[in-house]
Amino acid sequence: MKAHDGMFIGGAWREARSGETIEVLNPADGSVLATVPAGGPEDVDAAVKAARAALPGWAATPPAERAALLGALRDVLEARAGEIADLVTAELGSPVTLSRKVHAAVPVLVCGSYAELAAGFAFEERVGNSRVLREPVGVVGAITPWNYPLHQIVAKAAPALAAGCTMVLKPAEDTPLVAQLFAEAVREAGIPAGVFNLVTGLGPVAGQALAEHEDVDLVSFTGSTAVGRKIGALAGGGVKRVALELGGKSANVILPGADLTKAVKIGVANVMSNSGQTCSAWTRMLVDAERYEEAVRLAAEAAAKYVPGDPREEGTRLGPVVNAKQRERVTGYIELGEKEGARIVAGGATPPEVPEGHEAGHYVSATVLADVTPAMTVAREEIFGPVLSVLKYEDAEEALRIANGTEYGLAGAVWSDDEEEAVAFARRMESGQVDVNGGRFNPLAPFGGYKRSGVGRELGSHGLEEYLQTKSLQF
Ligand code: NAD
Repeated sequence: MKAHDGMFIGGAWREARSGETIEVLNPADGSVLATVPAGGPEDVDAAVKAARAALPGWAATPPAERAALLGALRDVLEARAGEIADLVTAELGSPVTLSRKVHAAVPVLVCGSYAELAAGFAFEERVGNSRVLREPVGVVGAITPWNYPLHQIVAKAAPALAAGCTMVLKPAEDTPLVAQLFAEAVREAGIPAGVFNLVTGLGPVAGQALAEHEDVDLVSFTGSTAVGRKIGALAGGGVKRVALELGGKSANVILPGADLTKAVKIGVANVMSNSGQTCSAWTRMLVDAERYEEAVRLAAEAAAKYVPGDPREEGTRLGPVVNAKQRERVTGYIELGEKEGARIVAGGATPPEVPEGHEAGHYVSATVLADVTPAMTVAREEIFGPVLSVLKYEDAEEALRIANGTEYGLAGAVWSDDEEEAVAFARRMESGQVDVNGGRFNPLAPFGGYKRSGVGRELGSHGLEEYLQTKSLQF
C-alpha cells in the first residue's frame, strides 16, 4: 500500500535524521498501513536548502518548458489514478467511488489546467512606459490537510511550479502516503531534482519549522483557522508572503420559490460527501418557515440513505471520519447541539452499526439537526463531520443575516426558481464562492475565503498570481 519509505529531498528518498517514524492508520478498521519518517527541523532545513539550490535553474526555465513538464505530471497522475484512489481510500477512509471521481480525478484536472495556463500566461506586460515582469516569489513552504489530500497538494504545487517557484511540502500526518506517491510522480514526469521536496512529519514540529524557516519566501497553508492564525503570525513576523485557506460554516439558502426536493437532496449530499470533511460544505441549510418541516423531513430521509460501510466497496456512500480524535470532536458537537435545544431527526452521537471487521473504525452516523438557531454552537463552529444543521428564516433579509452571521466566509449556495433573484442574493453573501442552483466545480475559478476563512486564492490564474511578484522596468 505504501509508495515509499522516505521523504523526498533534492531528488532522493531519505529517512528522518532522527530516525523517528509515524504510523499511518486505516480509519476504517484501525489497522496500520505503513510508517513514514517523522521529519524535524534538520530535515526541513535540508529540504529548504535543496529548494533554494534548484530555484535559479527552475525560475530561468522558459514557461513553456515548465508547462510541458506540468503536462507530463498531469499524465502520470492520470495513469496512476486507480492507485491514487485506492491509497486515499486506505488512508482517509473515503468511499472508493468518491476517491476515483474526486480525490484522483480533480488533481488531474487542476494539474492540466496549470499546464495550459502556464503555456499562455503573460509573464510580462507593458504598462505605459514600463515593462512589468512577473517573477516567481521564490521558495514556497506548503502545509496541507488530510481531507482532500492530493487535491490540496496539487492546488499549491501546480501553480507554484508553473510560476517558477521551488517548494517544500509538509503534508498532513494522517495522509502522507498519497504525498509520497505525488513526489514519485514529480520524478517520473522529469521535473528536476530539488524543485519539489517532501518532508513528512508532525504539524507542530515539521510544519512549524517550515513556517518559520527564514529562507522560505512564501508560506501557503490549508487547514484549521486555529493553526492558520499561528502561521499568519509567524509569516508576519518574518515579513513573508502568506496564503491561508481555512475553515468554513457555509450557508445553503433555499429561497421560497426554489425546487425544495432537489435543493434538499443536493444539499444533504454536499454535506455527507467525504464524511462531511469538506471545508466548503454547506453545513447550514436555511429554509423559509412555511416549508421548514417539509425540508426537515426530506433532509432526514436523504441522510438515512448514507449507511456506514466498507469504503473499499463500490456501493458505500459513507466511510469513517479520519481518526479517533475527529470522531470524538464530531460526536461531541452532536451532543452539544442536542443539549442546546436542537432536535435530532437523523443519526445522532451513538456509534452506528458497522460492517464486520470495522468495529475499530471511526464511524459517525449521518446526522441532521433541526430547530437549530443561529446562536447555537453547532450553527457557529465548524464540525467537520457528517452533520447538517437546518435553520428557519422568516424572510430573505433574515436569511441573509443568518447566512452572513458567522466569522467564516468560505462558500455558500443559493437556490431559487428565478436565477436573477439568486444572483442578487449571492452578491450580498459574504463568501468567496457561491453555487447558484447547484453549481458545478470549475478548476479555473478562484477558490478562497472572505473574513476568517482565509487570505489569498487558489486555482486558475488567481492561484498562479499568488506565487508571482512583480518587477517594473521603466523606460
Ligand atoms: P490542521 O490545521 O490541524 O492541520 C493542517 C496542516 O497543518 C497539517 O499538515 C498539520 O500537520 C499542520 N500543522 C498543525 N499544527 C501546525 C503548527 N503548529 N505549525 C505548522 N503546521 C501545523 O487542520 P486539519 O485538521 O488537518 O484539517 C481540517 C481543517 O482544514 C478544517 O478546519 C478545514 O476547514 C480546513 N480546510 C480548509 C480548506 C480550504 O481550502 N479553505 C480546505 C481543506 C481543509
